[in-house]
Amino acid sequence: MAIPIPSRQLFINGDWAEPLLKKRIPIINPTTEEIIGDIPAATAEDVDVAVQAARSALTRNKGKDWAFASGAVRAKYLRAIAAKIKERKPVLAKLETVDCGKPLSESEADMDDVIGCFEYYADLAEGLDAKQKAPISLPMKTFKSYVIREPIGVVALIVPWNYPLLMATWKVAPALAAGCAAILKPSELASVTCLELGEVCREVDLPAGVLNILPGLGPEAGASLASHPHVDKISFTGSTVTAVKIMTAAAQRVKPVTLELGGKGPIVVFEDVDIDKAVEWTIFGCFYTNGQICSATSRLIVHESIAAEFLDRLVKWSENIKISDPLEEGCKLGPIVSRGQYEKVMNFISNAKGEGATILYGGNRPKHLKKGFFVEPTIITDVTTSMQIWREEVFGPVLCVKTFTTEEEAIELANDTHYGLGGAVVSKDRERCDRVSKLLQNGAVWVNCSQPCFCQAPFGGTKWSGFGRELGEWGLESYLSVKQVTEYV
Ligand code: NAD
Repeated sequence: MAIPIPSRQLFINGDWAEPLLKKRIPIINPTTEEIIGDIPAATAEDVDVAVQAARSALTRNKGKDWAFASGAVRAKYLRAIAAKIKERKPVLAKLETVDCGKPLSESEADMDDVIGCFEYYADLAEGLDAKQKAPISLPMKTFKSYVIREPIGVVALIVPWNYPLLMATWKVAPALAAGCAAILKPSELASVTCLELGEVCREVDLPAGVLNILPGLGPEAGASLASHPHVDKISFTGSTVTAVKIMTAAAQRVKPVTLELGGKGPIVVFEDVDIDKAVEWTIFGCFYTNGQICSATSRLIVHESIAAEFLDRLVKWSENIKISDPLEEGCKLGPIVSRGQYEKVMNFISNAKGEGATILYGGNRPKHLKKGFFVEPTIITDVTTSMQIWREEVFGPVLCVKTFTTEEEAIELANDTHYGLGGAVVSKDRERCDRVSKLLQNGAVWVNCSQPCFCQAPFGGTKWSGFGRELGEWGLESYLSVKQVTEYV
């Protein structure tokens, strides 16, 4: 059932505010291709107002407000946010699905992760109180030192469209737990649930200005935030191309950045596996979220002795993936988020054909659907390592395949990419899994699975996939500044 999209404004200083230039961006449902509402579009003028609101939230009430509140006080708000999201979960999940096209069951799982993440960082915020003034042992008795952890200040949180509310939460929850004030910039392609977070903040009476939410175009709202003189840190999730622009802007004022970028992850499948289980993880690792996962294991590297059997079963599994309106029960593959992204994915497939690869399965729009930006799950073989399909991130349900004979060859193929986000190894041999895990140049390695993600464990990349870590204690630390106080006694 369709769901009405709430009409919202920008969320600034604890309330809704019309964009100063009154700009709005249409929301297009990727399943029906219809305009179903619009979102406000912030410009540099709005960014200025929001940054001021965030800055004063840190220091209002002569040091008694957000940045100086105890972790326990901040935890109370984070738990209240989690509780409100839990109440609204069915609506939020539907809004997410209508806005970005992911199957409803996946949006529901995202909302559970959002709730879990706010609760987890509430616990860590409380834990921070006990860590304050941690003594340091010094070699001289005439000096005493201790360490204080302080919020970095005003942070800009710029997120993409594939997990709109979840990617926002990975940043908002630790930033607020640390005592920062934040400006969240959701993607212009999927801002609806991030705006609903504004309503949640109103309902829990989050102090004004602690979280501001400014949808808008990347080169406008995003770029203004990245270059704003009163933003102290930028945490960005998105493409490597945009990351370069953000780093360039940040460098002008020596601002720290955390960058969570794209990927072209390998899944290495050895000859000793349970083929059906390995096929299931291969499918999940590449086609979940309609293939739009930054850490997708979209390069299958399979031992040549099982390759024929493996591909046969992979095709059979793919034939059974239900492609439909993502609100429909049992849907496993919905549409790509936008026409632009759909065309990019289709171009990758046709370039692969042009370069001599074979489309073993899929490669088209599914014939049974008349509307929507759908792409069949696609499996590409006869790939060489110089082809675009091997080298570049597709961000759609497209798997490319190569075979190997030796472990060394498999590792070389796996690391043959500029990216280094997620990678997987599948084998019954524990020692081999340990060896390969060590040698894969990725920020996350999955053994006998692909993609499971827990808010307790660090997430981030190497090489072109970025640097810094989100989630876990590492995520909290990235919003804290460490100060030493040393006293002569
Ligand atoms: P994108 O880089 O186009 O946009 C991401 C965000 O940056 C959006 O909010 C956009 O408005 C903003 N933006 C665009 N231009 C900007 C500029 N000049 N200055 C400041 N902000 C700007 O990426 P996308 O298409 O939204 O997302 C897909 C990419 O994100 C893929 O490469 C994917 O791998 C990556 N991603 C990474 C992770 C991760 O955790 N590593 C998670 C999800 C997505």
